[in-house]
Amino acid sequence: MASVEVNGRIFDEYVSAHEIAECVKKVAERINKDYADKEPLFICILNGAFMFASDLFKQIELSAEITFVRLKSYEGTKTTGDVKLLSPLAVNLEGRDVIVMEDIVDTGLTMHGFITYLKNAGANSVEVASFLFKPEALQYPDAAPKYIGMEIPTKFVLGYGLDYDEKGRNLPSLYVLRGN
Ligand code: 5GP
Repeated sequence: MASVEVNGRIFDEYVSAHEIAECVKKVAERINKDYADKEPLFICILNGAFMFASDLFKQIELSAEITFVRLKSYEGTKTTGDVKLLSPLAVNLEGRDVIVMEDIVDTGLTMHGFITYLKNAGANSVEVASFLFKPEALQYPDAAPKYIGMEIPTKFVLGYGLDYDEKGRNLPSLYVLRGN
């Protein structure tokens, strides 16, 4: 099994680039079917989702738009997540059917906050397409993605856009931290 060293830690290959492509294709097929009569707005969460978003968007056969945003999430109270937009969304969300493209939903804090923001901004519908989902770590049920590339256990992963201290995003496969 292939392994890589990133920032002094060893990561083992977990999901091959070929398997990732299969997962992304299935997500695209479902979205193409579910939104056949709609013109959805895709919002890619930077930085982590850029690779997933690119591969997914290429397979979208709808009259769709894409825009990008950077988010910072923080725990407001024990039960309420909050999210800050580090770059403004230059699109009117009123009445739009939004599909958020995320790299990974872990506790769900980030998506919980962003879904609330999008609904408050007038979006007609909001769904999340996440490359990865850690169901055992989820703390915000409304953040469970409708479209999931792959469910994984609560382990630290990198590659395919996901980083470890900003390194490893360029790896085409997904890797898991050894001994994690
Ligand atoms: P959440 O708000 O759902 O707890 O966390 C989501 C964010 O945490 C992701 O967008 C990602 O930046 C980061 N994250 C969570 N788990 C992992 C992981 O296993 N690997 C990496 N690289 N980032 C993760």
